[in-house]
Amino acid sequence: MNVLLVYAHPEPTSLNGAIRDFAVQRLRDAGHNVQVSDLYAMQWKAQLDAADSKARPGDAPFHPSLDSRHAFENGLQSDDIAREQAKLRWADAVILQFPLWWFSMPAILKGWVERVYAYGFAYGVGEHSDERWGDRYGEGMLAGKRAMLVVTTGGWESHYSPRGINGPIDDILFPIHHGILYYPGFDVLPPYLVYRTSRVDDARFAAIREELGERLDTLGSTAPIPFRPQNAGDYHIPLLTLRDEVAPGTLGFAAHVE
Ligand SMILES: Cc1cc2nc3c(=O)[nH]c(=O)nc-3n(C[C@H](O)[C@H](O)[C@H](O)COP(=O)(O)OP(=O)(O)OC[C@H]3O[C@@H](n4cnc5c(N)ncnc54)[C@H](O)[C@@H]3O)c2cc1C
Repeated sequence: MNVLLVYAHPEPTSLNGAIRDFAVQRLRDAGHNVQVSDLYAMQWKAQLDAADSKARPGDAPFHPSLDSRHAFENGLQSDDIAREQAKLRWADAVILQFPLWWFSMPAILKGWVERVYAYGFAYGVGEHSDERWGDRYGEGMLAGKRAMLVVTTGGWESHYSPRGINGPIDDILFPIHHGILYYPGFDVLPPYLVYRTSRVDDARFAAIREELGERLDTLGSTAPIPFRPQNAGDYHIPLLTLRDEVAPGTLGFAAHVE
């Protein structure tokens, strides 16, 4: 497989750096082609702004999504954005690796998503009618590809358990899993998590290598999280609420998983 690892940590000698090095080696040893987008090393520009287009439409005020569509449709995107889109097209599987910072991804990775996920590439795709509401949530440009998060947290596993103080990890990651990965079409695999990072020593790192190695070895076969496709009948269109008979009584994020 072609695997793209998008990596967001500023320090190569960090735990995340060691995990990245291990993952790349493991994937290459298994015969996969691997590309790494090391966002800090690339000095990735995190902010989405008017400089993302090589030629803006007229002298209209900058409009984040309309400018994005114009640049995407006319081959005017800045080169860094176009390069990352080419890597996504190339990839069969994408891994986003990052430390959990303030209950989400580091800003530099959020900025990668905001800029690379252009209008026409990751959203605003497909027919909008009474039967379909675009190619998204299970359909879209990235359909057929797999995606997985590799995330480290300072908090303990219990802090992220169903009754833990931080909230369940599945809920915390839902906006990334469902909103960022499933939305443009990825099959989203269960995440690999390293909790309580301050306690990682050589023995624990050996266990991480073992567990993560297994996840990487099964990247092509692990069953994805069964999110409900938008256009397959579970949702009223265009309200996009679940039909009453689907998961009756279940509310919130969990209702969108079969
Ligand atoms: C801005 C910010 C916001 C944060 N928000 C959250 C949050 O919302 N929720 C949360 O849970 N946490 C949060 N944290 C904590 C954060 O998630 C952790 O600090 C991070 O996941 C640790 O990853 P690291 O790669 O930076 O680890 P490092 O600090 O590099 O390493 C962690 C431990 O691993 C050991 N180690 C490193 N490399 C190796 C190796 N090769 N072999 C064996 N051991 C090794 C180190 O000795 C160290 O003890 C936040 C931190 C910051 C800075």
